[in-house]
Amino acid sequence: MNSRQDLLIETAGRAARYVAAIDQRRVAPTPADIARLDGLGGELNHDGCDASEVIALLDSLGSPATVASTGPRYFGFVTGGSLPVAMAANWLAGAWDQNAALFVQSPVGSQLEEIASKWLLDVLALPKSCGVGFVTGATMANFTALAAARHALLARAGWDVEARGLFGAPEIRIVVGAQVHASMLKALSMLGFGRARVITVPADDQGRMVANAVPALDERTLIAIQAGNVNTGAFDPATAICAKAKRDGAWVHVDGAFGLWAAATSDRAHLLNGVAEADSWATDCHKWLNVPYDSGLAIVRDPEHLRAAMTVRAAYLQMGEHREPWQYTPEASRRARGVEVWAALRSLGRRGLAEMIERNCRLASRFAEGFRRAGFEVLNDVVLNQVMISLGDSEKTRRVISEIQGEGTCWCGSTEWHGKAAMRISVSSWATTEDDVDRSLAAILRIAG
Ligand SMILES: *Cc1c(COP(=O)(O)O)cnc(C)c1O
Repeated sequence: MNSRQDLLIETAGRAARYVAAIDQRRVAPTPADIARLDGLGGELNHDGCDASEVIALLDSLGSPATVASTGPRYFGFVTGGSLPVAMAANWLAGAWDQNAALFVQSPVGSQLEEIASKWLLDVLALPKSCGVGFVTGATMANFTALAAARHALLARAGWDVEARGLFGAPEIRIVVGAQVHASMLKALSMLGFGRARVITVPADDQGRMVANAVPALDERTLIAIQAGNVNTGAFDPATAICAKAKRDGAWVHVDGAFGLWAAATSDRAHLLNGVAEADSWATDCHKWLNVPYDSGLAIVRDPEHLRAAMTVRAAYLQMGEHREPWQYTPEASRRARGVEVWAALRSLGRRGLAEMIERNCRLASRFAEGFRRAGFEVLNDVVLNQVMISLGDSEKTRRVISEIQGEGTCWCGSTEWHGKAAMRISVSSWATTEDDVDRSLAAILRIAG
């Protein structure tokens, strides 16, 4: 086989067979599957080899060593699945091989970002005039939005941070919650704010910032709150914090990597009360919109601050009156990740998106009820899609998690909550059904029993 078209068709067949079989296979690969990955290595061959053979080798050794996170019973981290339409759009976009940095390099890439931005701001219930950068994930979204905040806060103090850097700049105070996501601290460190010079606000038993404990804010303060705690799914009290910040002139950033999507529902949108009053937001499309990796959004109320922090100019980089995607992101050359976001939204519609998120939340509650009925303790208020379970003492909880991961029916992660080990279940895939929850519960309870 040597035609380009045959190769692509054959590969599409392999991918389709992989996806079709996902429900029958174990979720995590076996140690033997992982060991066989060595077969992909060895010395680099001197002569090339047939493209079709390369793909066949990749499929035969690579596919079994994947984690079935695109299947219905992967409950680790908060990964989301991949909607069939988003996966298919991703293949087409791969064939297009667009460089979505500039409009002249990819009119379709630029235009789909522009269209998807409007739809996203609508479903996320954020102001229409926000600037949106399509980045790789919430870590980069936090980084990008905080760079815009850094620009704005220092410009107000008469300091051009893009030109002069941070040495000698007026000091910016950073306030975060005790349960701040580790990636937020990384973003702060990359921006020169430092991980350790943050002011930490205590959290309540669900991991929410205690609003009364927020220190005095001012026009040189950035407060980063969370919409969706990675363990409990809880939301920081945005109404109180945004009101206080607005009064005092501080910048509020919201890390809503998955929680921001609750805005698309009718029954949980209230969890986000006050969030739209913030100055910037970060979220992931590869989580709850169920598009392929990598796909996050940096959203800034005043797009000028985002553009000021991200713009680059050079004589050969032709810019016109259209959206120039790289004016909103740290990256220049990049894939056209707006394609899948557009396809997912177009295919789901407003109602399909709401239903997917509501269904995931209902399934999380089904997990919680199943564990309670079996006499196990649910450690969090299940307000969203996150469930934390204690299966006995820490040692037993850890043992059950390790055994279920090895058994293969489903995959659940571990965490620590108030000093004790806990099993963490995150329901965020379009593909998960009640039957998947019941099969997974049965497998976990059998091991824990
Ligand atoms: C997942 C997550 C992140 C990091 O997102 P990436 O897409 O992995 O970079 C940040 N904050 C929260 C609350 C998250 O859930």
